[in-house]
Amino acid sequence: MALDAITFDLDDTLWHNGPVMAHAEPTHYQWLVEQIDACAEVATSLADSFPLEAYQRLRASLMQRFPLSRGDHSWIRERAMFELLQVHGLDEERARTWAAAGFDRFMQLRHTLEPFPEVEPMFEAWAQRYRLGIITNGNVDVRRLKLDHHFDVIILAGEMHAPKPDTRPFLSALFQLGTVPYRALHVGDNWEEDVLAAQRLGMHAVWIDAKNEGERELPPRVHRVTHVRELPEIVALLDDRIR
Ligand SMILES: [Mg+2]
Repeated sequence: MALDAITFDLDDTLWHNGPVMAHAEPTHYQWLVEQIDACAEVATSLADSFPLEAYQRLRASLMQRFPLSRGDHSWIRERAMFELLQVHGLDEERARTWAAAGFDRFMQLRHTLEPFPEVEPMFEAWAQRYRLGIITNGNVDVRRLKLDHHFDVIILAGEMHAPKPDTRPFLSALFQLGTVPYRALHVGDNWEEDVLAAQRLGMHAVWIDAKNEGERELPPRVHRVTHVRELPEIVALLDDRIR
């Protein structure tokens, strides 16, 4: 029985996410500040009452106040803008409208990204042979990246209130892909959330050591690469070994 399904993390697995967030984070907030200040309902600038760091601190505190939603980054972000705009002096309806607009702006920037050039041809080749899935804790919508047609299942684990390393998104993916752990491989950059979580379930796992943290003792069924372009070799090896 050969390998029959491969699931992927998104951020820092299929693209470099650091630069995307480094741009999206200050840029969408600056946009919100400009819009709110232009409305001139409140004498002080939003940047004075809530600098970017205060908005970030509020998001962290929301994760404590709403622990079940801590992995739902979309909800946390929009809720933070909603709350800070109310404290800044907007009424509830306007705060809600502007928070939604700020979040839309963020999501536009969040999706301004380039998957590694090897990704598309790799999926193209594998879609013939394996069932493919996404398991992400993030809020990227792969439909907006035009990658969704390759995947049989897409799981936004944070939004189902069970972010990785919770086993439920993995089990749900395996079930929907109609496979069992030992015939499935998960690929991701996070040691705890991707690699160990999948490995403990009995799946094979590839650790994308994107930060080049170096060699470490690898548990059974775990492989290390530094870039997604090294995957085909591992997949071929694994496929032979499981057979
Ligand atoms: Mg990741």
